[in-house]
Amino acid sequence: MASAFDVAVVGAGMGAFHAAEEIAKKSKDTKVAFIHGYTFQEWALAAAIFLNNPDEHEKWTAGVPEKWQQKWANVQYFMSSVETIDCDKKEIKLMNKGPHAGAVITYKAVVLATGSKSPLITPSPGTSLTERVSEVRACGSALKLCHSWEMCGDFRVHNGYSARVILLSRSGTVLDTDFGEKSAKPDAKVVEKVTNVLKDKMKVEVKHGSASDPKFSDAILSPGTLQLDSGETLDFDVYIPCFPIGPNTERLVSSQKILDDRGALITNDSLQSTSHPEVFGVGITTKKLFGHPVSSRLTAASKHCAQGALAVIQGKPVQVFQDKEAPPPLPQPMNVKIGHGKGGYMLWTSLPGPAKVCCCQCCNGGFPFCPPPCCWCCIPGCSGACGTCGSPPEGEGPASFMVHLLAKFPPNHGFKGLGDYGAEVPKQAKMA
Ligand SMILES: Cc1cc2nc3c(=O)[nH]c(=O)nc-3n(C[C@H](O)[C@H](O)[C@H](O)COP(=O)(O)OP(=O)(O)OC[C@H]3O[C@@H](n4cnc5c(N)ncnc54)[C@H](O)[C@@H]3O)c2cc1C
Repeated sequence: MASAFDVAVVGAGMGAFHAAEEIAKKSKDTKVAFIHGYTFQEWALAAAIFLNNPDEHEKWTAGVPEKWQQKWANVQYFMSSVETIDCDKKEIKLMNKGPHAGAVITYKAVVLATGSKSPLITPSPGTSLTERVSEVRACGSALKLCHSWEMCGDFRVHNGYSARVILLSRSGTVLDTDFGEKSAKPDAKVVEKVTNVLKDKMKVEVKHGSASDPKFSDAILSPGTLQLDSGETLDFDVYIPCFPIGPNTERLVSSQKILDDRGALITNDSLQSTSHPEVFGVGITTKKLFGHPVSSRLTAASKHCAQGALAVIQGKPVQVFQDKEAPPPLPQPMNVKIGHGKGGYMLWTSLPGPAKVCCCQCCNGGFPFCPPPCCWCCIPGCSGACGTCGSPPEGEGPASFMVHLLAKFPPNHGFKGLGDYGAEVPKQAKMA
């Protein structure tokens, strides 16, 4: 029998968390089904670290539901992934796997925050923690050929320089996805700098080409041959597509008119489906979220969608999404990471004004004069956060600092209890 809820939130990332949190805190009488879909949480921003070094995976994973689930009285968690959403019946059916296998949920409004399909980088719907641990370990031991500057850098950090690494780019240049889709235009100087670090320091070959055959939209962890659209072939030991393949809506919603050809939810300026007004989308819609940091844009969109869902069930008008609550969008990412930690490289590219001054970016400051010595103990690696004094704000110091900084963010986005696989992963399957 179906369980009835006011709002269903679907997804396991920061988008779903902020939507559920907004309703939990602002409307305590609203009954929410949080279809998280997994028994665990995993911090996606550290994927390049743990896919290259599976020993690090547990540190970024929360495997004990009692630790990561929030104690919100009006929210019920579901730890089986969604199989289908019947938008006409307003009914969700969960997969026949996991703690809530086969459950049926009805809703008055739904927020979809299912992210983009990124094979290996994020777990596929329905994956158990034990399966995910095996997948991460298989990837770590097989990695040889990568397709992203961050992955390439972390590959070198953990696996050294003996393997040939080719970074294939459909435009022939790096940073094209982030800069092209999320902001006005790429900064040519940053592109050139990142390309040089990849080529000269990381010994990565940046190659112009694409492989559009759908069989190359999944990672391949054993030797094979990549067929490029140009007709050229490339032999590989490991192939990893590190670009988002499209919204995770494949086979999810029953009504096809609700999605465009790429699987994006067709929405108005309120991030609300044009055909089913009770359906909202975070980060998976035809209305793009512009600017950096991406996580701030996403958080604002999540809160907006939660408020939209509440408006729908209360019969009130839905507001246009304005991204006003978050800090103003930056046209470029604040930094570009080419590997984390010792042996990695990071460039600060566009900090907001006050942070820029504090980090001495205007005058090429850095260790030992900036940040001030009193800050050096706040976060390990902080003394090298801005690079070396008199040099550009980049290098191994910022890359080492970033590992520690990265660990500060998860709690802000609802990720708790990281560092514990819990009992689901048998002891002998845990990494040393
Ligand atoms: C390596 C890496 C580094 C990054 N660095 C930065 C950074 O420095 N700064 C920044 O701002 N952003 C960064 N990002 C981007 C940021 O991580 C993403 O924008 C953000 O995680 C997206 O959140 P989301 O909740 O929309 O989607 P996701 O994090 O992708 O979460 C969606 C979840 O929903 C699940 N799901 C899918 N289908 C179903 C279903 N049928 N049922 C149930 N659940 C389902 C998915 O499996 C997934 O776990 C980075 C991303 C990566 C991968």
